[in-house]
Amino acid sequence: MTNPSLLDAIRREARDARQSGIVELFNYGRGREGLIPLWVGEGDLPTPPFIAEAARRSFEAGETFYTAQRGLPALRAAIAAYMTRCYGAPGRAFAPDQFFVTTGGMHALQIAMRLLAGPGDEAIVPTPAWPNFEAALTISGARTVGVPLELSDTGAGLRWRLDPERVARAITPRTRALVVNTPANPTGWTASPQELQALLSLARDHGLWIIADEIYGRIFFEGGRAPSFHDIMEPEDRILFVQTLSKNWAMTGWRVGWLEAPQALGPVIENLIQYSTSGVATPTQRAAAAALEHGEDFLTHQLARLRASRDVLCAALSATGRARFATPAGSFYLFCAFEGMTDSRAAAMRIVDEANVGLAPGTAFGPGGEGFMRICFARDPESIGEAAERLAGWLRG
Ligand code: PMP
Repeated sequence: MTNPSLLDAIRREARDARQSGIVELFNYGRGREGLIPLWVGEGDLPTPPFIAEAARRSFEAGETFYTAQRGLPALRAAIAAYMTRCYGAPGRAFAPDQFFVTTGGMHALQIAMRLLAGPGDEAIVPTPAWPNFEAALTISGARTVGVPLELSDTGAGLRWRLDPERVARAITPRTRALVVNTPANPTGWTASPQELQALLSLARDHGLWIIADEIYGRIFFEGGRAPSFHDIMEPEDRILFVQTLSKNWAMTGWRVGWLEAPQALGPVIENLIQYSTSGVATPTQRAAAAALEHGEDFLTHQLARLRASRDVLCAALSATGRARFATPAGSFYLFCAFEGMTDSRAAAMRIVDEANVGLAPGTAFGPGGEGFMRICFARDPESIGEAAERLAGWLRG
């Protein structure tokens, strides 16, 4: 740290947000010759050309002026149609007024937290968890209360589970929200309909909001999409949904997503967008609309590839007899304990040095993460196979 007095002169909440343990490893190993990078949550596929083409056309048409704060009407209509197609049911259609276009899922999450949690408030987060939940809460002044997921043997293999009793015990008069990320980064935990129902009942009973991060809802390996709060909620339930184009359509660098919220909050959310980013670049929004309207084939292709990569990785690690994991039902992460590993941060550095594979240490994901590694398998099955062999060799050696 350079000048401590400057750090003392800024808000404590901003200063206290920790460096991401994923970024730390990435900085340690970046640039190594031949390294297979599985530490960051993105794939190797470029954005499909038809999506980039929509942005190019927008630039050429001179769409370079300030944009609608809530998002272009055409994009919000495309989101509503997409949601009705994927999450609708008889009697359940989505309206454009429920959707607010944001600068990626992260900005949707920021807005959700600004709406709900400030100094003195608490939010419950099942852990291990994506570190940005806690960091965003810390910056807003709120406190994160972690509730550990449990890795248990179901008879048909290991499975992550969330015990609603433990969530109930973590609720205090200060609790404002439950942050529910399913399918989850980093564990792959995918809430069952019963788990979702139990969480919704708790939220109703205690007057809590749910921040539902279902960004991996379509990256699901057991048929169709993952179970969603949409399947069980009533219109009056207090749920904010975080979504992004980043993962489904290989658009991590475009920075576009959305927040889904009750229509009554529209003017407030519009203000929060105005006073943070003032909206998403119009060409990016055109690209997002193209992805939602014409992106199913790409998603199908990506899912098949992810499944092959997941299976190669799980088979190779399982064969070592030294790796313990629940095969992820959703998301593109394997969260895996290596036998005898007590310091995952040091081990991740050794794996960079000795196996030339980049992993994210479990400690980056908060309580319950020590002893595990997060392995992102969103790459072609051949290089995942190669990475799995290197890891298996390292584990045996
Ligand atoms: N939620 C989860 C669980 C994530 O893993 C990520 C990205 N790693 C996001 C939200 C944010 O996505 P985006 O890149 O669109 O900001």
